[in-house]
Amino acid sequence: MRTLSILILLIFSPQPTFQQEPTVCIIGSGIGGSSLAHFLRQYSSKNWHPRILMFERNGVVGGRMATVTISGQTFEAGASILHPKNYHTVNFTKLLNLKPKDPPSSEDSTAFGIWDGSKFVFKTISVSSTVPFVQKIVSLANSVLMVLRYGLSLLRMESFTESAVDKFLKYYESFETRPVFESVDEMLKWAGLFNLTARSLEEELIDARLSPLLMQELVTIITRINYGQSLSISGLAGAVSLAGSGGGLWAVEGGNWQMAAGLINCSDVALHLHEEIESISYLREYYELNSTKGNSYTCQITVVATPLDELNLHFSPPISIPERKLQHTHATFVRGALNPAYFGLDGVSKIPELVATIEDPDLPFTCISVLKQHDENDFTYKIFSRKPMTDTLLDDIFSVRKETIRINWGAYPHYKAPEVFAPFILDGRHLYYVNAFENAASTMETSAVAAENVARLILSRFFSKPSVTSLNLKTSSDAREELHLDL
Ligand SMILES: Cc1cc2nc3c(=O)[nH]c(=O)nc-3n(C[C@H](O)[C@H](O)[C@H](O)COP(=O)(O)OP(=O)(O)OC[C@H]3O[C@@H](n4cnc5c(N)ncnc54)[C@H](O)[C@@H]3O)c2cc1C
Repeated sequence: MRTLSILILLIFSPQPTFQQEPTVCIIGSGIGGSSLAHFLRQYSSKNWHPRILMFERNGVVGGRMATVTISGQTFEAGASILHPKNYHTVNFTKLLNLKPKDPPSSEDSTAFGIWDGSKFVFKTISVSSTVPFVQKIVSLANSVLMVLRYGLSLLRMESFTESAVDKFLKYYESFETRPVFESVDEMLKWAGLFNLTARSLEEELIDARLSPLLMQELVTIITRINYGQSLSISGLAGAVSLAGSGGGLWAVEGGNWQMAAGLINCSDVALHLHEEIESISYLREYYELNSTKGNSYTCQITVVATPLDELNLHFSPPISIPERKLQHTHATFVRGALNPAYFGLDGVSKIPELVATIEDPDLPFTCISVLKQHDENDFTYKIFSRKPMTDTLLDDIFSVRKETIRINWGAYPHYKAPEVFAPFILDGRHLYYVNAFENAASTMETSAVAAENVARLILSRFFSKPSVTSLNLKTSSDAREELHLDL
């Protein structure tokens, strides 16, 4: 009750007046940066209205939520699917009056095949019928096929995933029961998820008694599609990846990037597009940000909302974070038709809508999926691969290729258990790092969950400065005994 009353105090009561409202500078306009701006506004008092400046090096907002246009049609190029229990993004969609859409049937009840480089080791049945009864029979037949191949292990896989999802739901609890977290470790431990980051997915699934066949085939194709990586990723990244292959998945009609655009629009943010920040210097009372345009900005609070791993951003004084790599995913979009002969088949209609691959370094792609079928011999495909798809390779795989678009994504962290996390607070002052949490799992929702915590952390730490101790806010360093903080 005390927590709630302090929060109400913070939100509704007159706040101590500062000579000048502080400036909060956010680097990055993806879902992390945009939801941070949103939560900062939502949680702060009407009397506390900091200037929020947001810097985006690109000419559009959204970061890894981006679309690609091929032959005049638009598709998700990066983050494409959301889980039904991704409550922040569900709420953003409602708040912004965006329309949720179910993912295209090619990602839902997709007919898929597991390709080992010379043959399909497993294929589900595909019947192109719009009759619900026929669809149901096909779906039932596919379930039977799966059970015959993988047996009871399928249930164990489901319960492993559900247990992790249930723990994650704790991050939506009210302020009364949910502390503000100063570190990723603390945040994961509180939800019971930390141990999953300390061991590989493979170790976790062996303990959960999944059969080797299920792990080498179905689980592997899922982690490869979602994170471009093998079973060596952490148990938590693996569970998140498996959750992203279940039912009820959705996306925002017209593009997920609209969530970032809408949140920025609603949050009274001064957005600086095409402005890359190249240095952050702490100059006693404030941070000075310098951009490649030659501009300087003064900020009392600075938030990095992008992975630092491949960034040329200079910090003075220097900061220290664990060294890690990003996993690059090459997304190649092709309008045309696959070559059935490449797959040892005699017709393009026999190739599954999703061709997924097992872990084999010689395989040149991770997956190929149909985004849209235009007619019998004309499709739009999305290919994920770890290396760029050369023209020679594409000419082998496709019999018709009218248009090709390639994107090289610094897509997500390269996961390796046990994970070591960067801090949310980079310098012990007011320099924050939302994407420290991405090394637990990278999704639109996890970015929003991390941003929500960082917004609360900023407020609790800013208002616990000596001048406002009357608000009686504590951080975990003030009250190390209490895991539960006051905001
Ligand atoms: C191919 C692919 C598929 C994916 N699929 C899914 C999926 O289906 N579902 C899902 O939930 N997630 C998916 N993800 C992961 C998801 O995209 C990310 O976890 C999430 O979008 C990260 O958001 P963010 O705001 O933290 O970072 P970003 O979206 O990367 O935003 C960071 C922003 O900061 C900008 N920036 C960087 N440096 C500077 C600088 N110095 N100055 C100014 N601006 C800067 C960047 O241009 C970028 O716009 C996928 C990712 C990829 C690449």
